[in-house]
Amino acid sequence: MYNSNSSSNGPRKPFSRTNSRPGSSRPSTYAGSNPRPAGSYSSSSRPPFRGGSRFGGGRPSGNRGGAGKRPHGVYIDPNKFINKAVITEEIEHFKPEHKFDDFAVNPVLKAAIKSKGYELPTPIQDRTIPHILQGADIVGIANTGTGKTAAFLIPLINKVLLNPKEQVMILAPTRELAIQINEELKGFTRGMKMFSVCCVGGMSITKQISDLRYQYNFIIGTPGRIKDLIERRMIILSEFNSIVLDEADRMLDMGFINDMRLIMAGMPKKRHTLFFSATLSPDIEKLIHEFLNQPVRISVKTRDTSKNIDQDVVRVGAGMNKLDMLNDLLQKKDFTKVIVFSRTKHGAEKLSKLLVQKGIKVESIHGDKNHSRRQQALKAFKENKVQVLVATDVAARGLDIADVSHVVNYDVPATYDDYVHRIGRTGRGDKKGKALTFLE
Ligand code: AMP
Repeated sequence: MYNSNSSSNGPRKPFSRTNSRPGSSRPSTYAGSNPRPAGSYSSSSRPPFRGGSRFGGGRPSGNRGGAGKRPHGVYIDPNKFINKAVITEEIEHFKPEHKFDDFAVNPVLKAAIKSKGYELPTPIQDRTIPHILQGADIVGIANTGTGKTAAFLIPLINKVLLNPKEQVMILAPTRELAIQINEELKGFTRGMKMFSVCCVGGMSITKQISDLRYQYNFIIGTPGRIKDLIERRMIILSEFNSIVLDEADRMLDMGFINDMRLIMAGMPKKRHTLFFSATLSPDIEKLIHEFLNQPVRISVKTRDTSKNIDQDVVRVGAGMNKLDMLNDLLQKKDFTKVIVFSRTKHGAEKLSKLLVQKGIKVESIHGDKNHSRRQQALKAFKENKVQVLVATDVAARGLDIADVSHVVNYDVPATYDDYVHRIGRTGRGDKKGKALTFLE
């Protein structure tokens, strides 16, 4: 961690213990209320989900939402700018052992997988789905972009198809992730008469309470709100046989440990527990020991970002000065060799001049500079004569500079591909790098 200073698929039958009401619909915007003060930046500092097209990074076959360079770029899910380094196992040129057809799941679900356009299982899916289908507890070491959501949803949906009374709890650290999981679930279960309620903070609890009065199979939510609903007796934990803890390490980082413990303690002792985390720290091992029963462990390499790079966001709150924030960062001891990305040539030039005025040793490379001036700037940066290189995407592509301590995305990149290229300037070889993305 870095620090500077409900939905449903349609009409629903009322559940036995509740009243009859019409089906619910998902709100289209989610106002952000962050557990951290504005201006802090950390793995837990998430901006509100702004709607628009979610960026489908991590899909093997692309789906990158029109990666062309539009003036303001495509919307990129801010979650994609947050990733911890240290992913365990590297799987190069992965050949899945299974086809989706091989899995012992209901043909209706197989058809849904197909209609979603998934041709072959991703590594985490290939290796976890058979174990989950057999009822084993799972520790999956994988982060966003690996297909982990479908890895747990597919076997759990099958469970519900086998027993329509089955209830599954899915815990996620942020409302954005919970909503994303719910969307993915809806994508698989269209027409299956399977229902979910998304219980996240920052949204009307009254609506969630009324949704919980109907029959549902999945609750997807954040620990704080789920706890609140348990205390209001709207969620009866003993009715759930299966639980997923998604991004458990981030839930831990965000201080949800007591809520997680309370929820796990209320679940039946004999249950099915699926635990996903991007990292395996001693604290995480402790939780695994506490929550799971002889789990099968599976780890995969992240699909779309380097394993050596710690990625986080810097939130620029209202009234905050982005330039001053950058300047503050650059004063830090570990910011020894920093590439700062600007979206435009003009912006790069302007920013480098402003940083010079602040006394920072800086060079810039962008398309408005001729080749030899760019080479000079690069040489000065490579030889550590300047601390900072301000660059545009095009100018920096393919640069191989040793020991870049940080990549700072002063402007959000236009596409996720650009992001991956940008952050790839740090963490090269066996070195660990850091990438920070300013979010306004
Ligand atoms: P996740 O890691 O669960 O956030 O998934 C990352 C992206 O990969 C999402 O857009 C998924 O819809 C997509 N995805 C997951 N599994 C597959 C698959 N087997 N084939 C193609 N795309 C997939």
